[in-house]
Amino acid sequence: MKKVLVTGAGGFIGGWLVAHLLEQGENVTAVDIKPLNQWFQLHQSAKNLSYDLANLDNCLKVTKNIEYVYNLAADMGGMGFIENNKALCMLSVLVNTHLILASKRNGVKRYFFASSACVYNADKQKDSNVTALKEEDSYPAMPEDGYGWEKLFSERMCNHFYQDFGMEVRVGRYHNVYGPLGTWTGGREKAPAALCRKIAEANILGLNAIEIWGDGNQTRSFMYIDDCIEGTIKLMESDIRQPINIGSSRMVSINELVEIILKIANSKVDLIYDIKAPKGVRGRNSDNSKILELLNWEPSISLEVGLHKTYFWIREQIKNAKK
Ligand code: NAD
Repeated sequence: MKKVLVTGAGGFIGGWLVAHLLEQGENVTAVDIKPLNQWFQLHQSAKNLSYDLANLDNCLKVTKNIEYVYNLAADMGGMGFIENNKALCMLSVLVNTHLILASKRNGVKRYFFASSACVYNADKQKDSNVTALKEEDSYPAMPEDGYGWEKLFSERMCNHFYQDFGMEVRVGRYHNVYGPLGTWTGGREKAPAALCRKIAEANILGLNAIEIWGDGNQTRSFMYIDDCIEGTIKLMESDIRQPINIGSSRMVSINELVEIILKIANSKVDLIYDIKAPKGVRGRNSDNSKILELLNWEPSISLEVGLHKTYFWIREQIKNAKK
């Protein structure tokens, strides 16, 4: 049984990671800045704490006697949030900086940092039929402004903590993660959750149109939460110290994503395109050569299966909210 700290544990990926680590029999401390009653998942068998980890003293407290740290805490959201909150996104640098410093001081054995596909050079993502991104495509650096720069800087800090202090670091570059028990409304939700919500609302209220951000031809890949958790734990247990893609390599356009959800919902709606809305880069996909070579693994849960679970969970939330 390892003593494991998960930060951002009140959020989407953190909540699922805590669940999985507890199932594996680990001794888990879960921390988030949010009050406990706002966590997406609260697991009674973990030690659950509410702390602001931008603060070094708090980081020193929570890393005491910890062996593994998974740092998932960040101010984050979909394009609507990160394009309009660049300073807030960059302030997450305080969490990673203080947490890795505290981890070093307290003798933590392994440190995971949740990075993002937003670190990739924007020039390599200008076409919807984009070439999938390999790890080296993050340089020369021209990441997503704000959020992506913070991730790229923090990746480098992790790397230098290994080079200068011998700290065992692992860095996963997540590509769009989706699934139940995540943000689905309020402005921070990402495309799969937002589209499931719009289609479910149309379905429940009998509306005949939904709004799509952009022209719908922008492309992405989407990874179901169970794959994300499996990849994260495999990476942590490996000896890979360089940043690595954790993402699906099935690229779809937003229009194709909508089609899949409409089929799941057994619905038909007109699509109204808002071409001025935030939409991010034109195309993005994950090249999985490295993870296949080093871990002999890549995400495998299909969009159809993952979106089915996500859509019906969101539909249920909407119905419960209306009661
Ligand atoms: P989330 O917003 O659901 O969870 C992040 C959690 O971090 C939130 O609960 C938030 O309250 C907490 N947090 C923020 N600031 C904090 C602070 N100062 N102290 C303590 N807790 C703090 O997001 P998520 O989707 O679960 O993402 C988890 C991590 O994965 C983040 O680092 C994110 O940038 C990264 N990531 C996610 C995706 C994705 O598609 N979800 C893609 C790429 C990278």
